[in-house]
Amino acid sequence: AVELNHVDKSYDNKQLVVNDVNVTIEPGEFFVLVGPSGCGKSTLLRIIAGLEELSAGSLLIDGKRADHLPPSKRELSMVFQNYALYPHMTVADNITFGLDVKKIRKKQRKEKCDEIAEMLGLTDFLKRKPRHLSGGQRQRVALARAIITNSPICLMDEPLSNLDAKLRAFMRAEIKELQRKLGMTLIYVTHDQIEAMTMGDRIMVLNEGAIQQIGRPIDVYNTPANPFVAKFIGSPP
Ligand code: ATP
Ligand code: MG
Repeated sequence: AVELNHVDKSYDNKQLVVNDVNVTIEPGEFFVLVGPSGCGKSTLLRIIAGLEELSAGSLLIDGKRADHLPPSKRELSMVFQNYALYPHMTVADNITFGLDVKKIRKKQRKEKCDEIAEMLGLTDFLKRKPRHLSGGQRQRVALARAIITNSPICLMDEPLSNLDAKLRAFMRAEIKELQRKLGMTLIYVTHDQIEAMTMGDRIMVLNEGAIQQIGRPIDVYNTPANPFVAKFIGSPP
């Protein structure tokens, strides 16, 4: 489980952009963080990943204090908002980058890369550089790079925001399927209510750094905790 206890975050000691966040995300859960731009979604994800320090509170991963562990010591993978691919490396090298760090043998690396490329429809692009790919293809490379590490926990920050509506709908189903198949814990950030409603086992609605509601999508929709949630999720009056 990923457990956040009374987590606060402020940049430069200014106002809190994460304000007393308490939540436990269960193993194998598809957990969605949703809220308007600037509400602190990426900051929370970066805190879990270890890319940002929390200002107060604690983070536990599988019952152990993790807030002082460097990112490499937390068993998780991350898909960034802008994909963060290495422009000078081929698609194949981008995908296997995390394995190189883990010193996995070359043959095994190639087998895993081929298997995952196949799964995500990237087989024909393995030798290309990212700049010669479409947005959707880059997106898949970023997913492949995260999945190949076999991390039990995966963090995704608006992975579909650069895609057109049709591809986005397709990739939603794809990611959902992948998560189920791999049984991973997925913490998924979006500002898109439809994505949250259709993908999440549970969703957490954030506003100005504070939790507004946590629950199953259907329950949040039917019984919003406050007017903000009702408006944001689009609950019927
Ligand atoms: P979006 O949907 O636009 O990606 P978000 O919910 O991911 O938004 P964050 O990126 O977590 O929001 O930002 C939360 C708040 O913290 C915003 O007000 C933002 O301006 C501020 N912020 C984020 N990163 C920094 C930083 N490095 N230094 C100072 N302030 C920051
Ligand atoms: Mg963000």
